[in-house]
Amino acid sequence: MIHRRIAVLSLAALSLFATGRSQADVRLYVFDCGLIGAADISMFNLTNEETPVRELFVPCYLIEHPEGRLLWDAGLPLAMAGQGRIEEEGGVYMRYEKSLIDQLADMDLSPADIDLVAFSHMHYDHVGAANAFAGSKLLIQNTEYDAAFNEVTNPVFQPDLYADLKDSDRLILEGDHDVFGDGSVMIISAPGHTPGHQVLLLRLANSGNLVLSGDLYHFQMSRKLRRAPTFNTDAEETFRSMDKVEALIEAEDATLWIEHEKALADRLQMAPAYYD
Ligand SMILES: [Zn+2]
Repeated sequence: MIHRRIAVLSLAALSLFATGRSQADVRLYVFDCGLIGAADISMFNLTNEETPVRELFVPCYLIEHPEGRLLWDAGLPLAMAGQGRIEEEGGVYMRYEKSLIDQLADMDLSPADIDLVAFSHMHYDHVGAANAFAGSKLLIQNTEYDAAFNEVTNPVFQPDLYADLKDSDRLILEGDHDVFGDGSVMIISAPGHTPGHQVLLLRLANSGNLVLSGDLYHFQMSRKLRRAPTFNTDAEETFRSMDKVEALIEAEDATLWIEHEKALADRLQMAPAYYD
């Protein structure tokens, strides 16, 4: 009987530990998954005079948690890797040095080691390696699944890049989601850029609380001037999501990483270095 009581007590202590703010050992790795350059940034609802920035960094992230590995965003299309500068229409160019798959291999990881995948949204520059992760569990908002797989009308979606995920094991989300159940990795619904756009809140033991923006903002100026790109699916919904995420940043005393901000990326340590 005494033995049993001790077991119950220590179980209670354990769960207290898990739900308290004494974080699990979570690591965040950042990968260089390409670059997009544009001569004209008016599509982001900014004039070319409002910011001198013309290049967008394209990241991928790996979150390692004791309960599993989560890939967040999957970069430019893998076929672009190693191709040098690729010219697109309208003065747009792209570059992708080393594929995400090769960068994971450098860490002795393969897509089979990735338990979960989630994308801020399904635009081509966030799902470029998606098909390689068809064996991982997909975490996706119901609205984004519909927009990406069922009624694709948005030209920024390139279904061939993620078609293999249509029948993946998946968890359909209807809002915010605590990925590992301990509050350390939270998917936050922030629609408007696309119907099921989302951002990621990480509560890291040493680096503090961090929000990965997805495409809530593309530039610092988008945040400062509160501008929604012209190609967003819903501008009003975007502004509501900006309000929600700004309130979250305030409440969590969190740092916001604008994923596409090249000036930020230039300051960050890329994998295999990590943030914890
Ligand atoms: Zn993007």
